[in-house]
Amino acid sequence: MIKHSATLAVNEKISALRAAGKPVLHLGFGEAGLPVLPEIGAELASAAGQNAYGPVVGSASARASVAGYFTRRDLPTDPEQAILAPGSKALLYAALAALPGDLVLPTPSWVTYAAQAALVGKRVIGVPVPGEAGGVPDPALLEPALAAARREGADPKLLVLTLPDNPTGTAAGADLVKAVCEIADRHGLVIISDEIYRDLTYVPEAHLSPASLLPERTIVTGGLSKSTALGGWRVGFARMPAGELGRSTTERIVGIASEIWSSLAMPMQAAAEFVLSEPTSVTDHVAACRRLHAAVSSAVHSALVEAGAECRTPSAAFYVYPDFEQLRPELTSAGIRTGAELADALLDNHGVGVLAGEHFGDTPSAYRFRVASSLLYGETEDQRWQALRSENP
Ligand code: PLP
Repeated sequence: MIKHSATLAVNEKISALRAAGKPVLHLGFGEAGLPVLPEIGAELASAAGQNAYGPVVGSASARASVAGYFTRRDLPTDPEQAILAPGSKALLYAALAALPGDLVLPTPSWVTYAAQAALVGKRVIGVPVPGEAGGVPDPALLEPALAAARREGADPKLLVLTLPDNPTGTAAGADLVKAVCEIADRHGLVIISDEIYRDLTYVPEAHLSPASLLPERTIVTGGLSKSTALGGWRVGFARMPAGELGRSTTERIVGIASEIWSSLAMPMQAAAEFVLSEPTSVTDHVAACRRLHAAVSSAVHSALVEAGAECRTPSAAFYVYPDFEQLRPELTSAGIRTGAELADALLDNHGVGVLAGEHFGDTPSAYRFRVASSLLYGETEDQRWQALRSENP
């Protein structure tokens, strides 16, 4: 069955409550919640006349800017390896559709991977994340999970890593990434490394892309939705592996893209080119967004720990993933048995929108949910600019 995305469904419920006049603090949606940098807006406006259809993979200059972005991040990239699309979500879907085999996913992980796998007829092999960070399967559990999946007739060939991670808001360190890549290499898995939060890592030196370890077998996806808060502009990109696998997968992705979205809108490609060339105005803006996300995530984390939750310390993005298991007796006696019921109670009784861990592949009985902090940045655009400019957010 094709189901509505869980995050979008909660968003719609919250919009309906707001339309009915109820105040709701929406913490569940993966929205950066910050304003558009005027310099980026001006680039988009000046490209409004670009109304011709463009190349499916992106214009030569936009592809070169994607290549430059990755090359500056220690992943030397040829423009031929770059693809732009309306959102990295579209590219993730196309990559899953283009590549054979079943999908290994860290649990919990972003809602869309499992949903997309189902849409393209893949089985999902969930492997719990380790205690210290999300976005990668626990290396100690990965090999047994692959063996068990094969015994049950699955054909695990793909592994998605989220570096840094949604929903846990953590950046897995280099040691964990290396350990997982070693196993992936032994088992011939292709890695899809979703690095859309890469520039929002509060500890950037911790980031290691699997593409630098397994360059011929790693697709990296990214985009402008999170770091420059441009989710609604739908700009995503991918760095395809060099070599035969990269070329043949790109060809299949182009086949899918050409029949579905044709290309990323040309004015958006011009804006992306500007952002990805990383002038000082953009890098300063990303740094201010990162500082604010770090400050808000840290404050939310402290408040949740004080309220009795266990919670990994956030180290990236704008998510905190608390676990209220310790409060199970109190919650059960209040008639709340699952994370989803807790999320419903918070929305219905307190006007606070969060997403239950169940949506991220967590067990329904877990009292875990994701808190995104976007709407804590101020109601008006002025307030958000003030928060961004504050020395001490
Ligand atoms: N990957 C992750 C882990 C995300 O959290 C999201 C958005 O929530 C996306 C990808 C989607 O990004 P885009 O806006 O580029 O489609």
